[in-house]
Amino acid sequence: MSFFSKTLNRVKPSPTISITAKAAELKASGKNVIGLSAGEPDFDTPDNIKNAAINAILAGKTKYTAPDGMPELKKAICKKFLNENNLKYEPAEISVGVGGKQVLFNALFATLNSGDEVIIPAPYWVSYPDMVLIGNGTPVIVETSIETGFKITPEALEKAITPATKWFIFNSPSNPTGAGYTQQDIEGLVDILRKYPHVWIMTDEIYEHITYAPFKHVSLAEVAPDLKDRILVVNGVSKAYSMTGWRIGYAAGPVNLNKAMSKIQSQSTSNPCTISQWAAVEALEGNQDYIDFSRDAFKQRRDYVVEQLNSVDGINCIVPEGAFYVYPSVHNIIGKKTNDGVLIENDAVFVEQLLEKEGVAAVHGAAFGLSPYFRISYALSMSELEDACARIKRFCGSLV
Ligand code: PLP
Repeated sequence: MSFFSKTLNRVKPSPTISITAKAAELKASGKNVIGLSAGEPDFDTPDNIKNAAINAILAGKTKYTAPDGMPELKKAICKKFLNENNLKYEPAEISVGVGGKQVLFNALFATLNSGDEVIIPAPYWVSYPDMVLIGNGTPVIVETSIETGFKITPEALEKAITPATKWFIFNSPSNPTGAGYTQQDIEGLVDILRKYPHVWIMTDEIYEHITYAPFKHVSLAEVAPDLKDRILVVNGVSKAYSMTGWRIGYAAGPVNLNKAMSKIQSQSTSNPCTISQWAAVEALEGNQDYIDFSRDAFKQRRDYVVEQLNSVDGINCIVPEGAFYVYPSVHNIIGKKTNDGVLIENDAVFVEQLLEKEGVAAVHGAAFGLSPYFRISYALSMSELEDACARIKRFCGSLV
């Protein structure tokens, strides 16, 4: 009998983290590699936020806090929800974790029992299904299509709901497609959810600030205030303020859920890093110029990458409304061969060959539950993106 837990057999390591690590390894060995696989902004954390952390250290604010976050940060989060999303929450309804990832994990771990189903639209952020599996639940994957802009339709959502459904995980703007749901899109989904009071909604809005006009982010919780008792709004500072390494995410939801999540956290990591919490207070309450600056830069890059990819024979890329990813289709490339005879039989082989032949690291669509596509993160400098697009063009042009 294996020494290791059976849970391990159910989960796989994060493919995006594995590919990013592989690209870093190749780079370290001297290969000229451009990494398009990482899910983080390339900008530095703004100085005002760094200084808040330094000041916290100097002032000796270096001790434990409450496991689910210190009062000053919870207050700042309540203010953020009120000002930016028109949502009224009390500090007791807020939970702070080690990144949005831990908050999502806590919520699933604290609520799932064997047999509970969680509806996840595909393509999905790689961690959702595996977190559900760790929590002993059953992911119910609902595939979307490029025709609906990779958005789940109300009909598809309703078809997936059963008496065993516990959660619907909703992510807008989406990783990996960048799809953003409009108020009207959300209203259609909410109309269905109103009919099924046993289904709770986890709305992951971590990319809310990285959106491009005319698209405007609206929180599902704002569209459906009547469902507040069964909505968990998840957000964080990682993407909005280029703070991925600081590990602060947060959620707002019913007090009893919050308490359950806090119980899990109190027996695992305890509080998220106190110094990072002080930095997050500054991120939420201090100067917000970085948000406009990064949005403008990402928009320029999005426009460039989409245009370049659509000029490649065999690639079809729709324009995303948010985040810093594109999710192009390689439908018309499957079945071709590389010039040394490798058959591109699926998107995994496509990205593997792209890395081998041209040193471009991207992530295959299968990792996100929808093929044949691949995901590119365009959180890189324009010159790196120009180089990457030229390499992709050359690679696709070499296929026969
Ligand atoms: N949700 C989505 C959709 C993400 O893409 C990520 C990170 O990649 C997260 C949540 C978690 O981010 P963090 O744990 O850094 O807050």
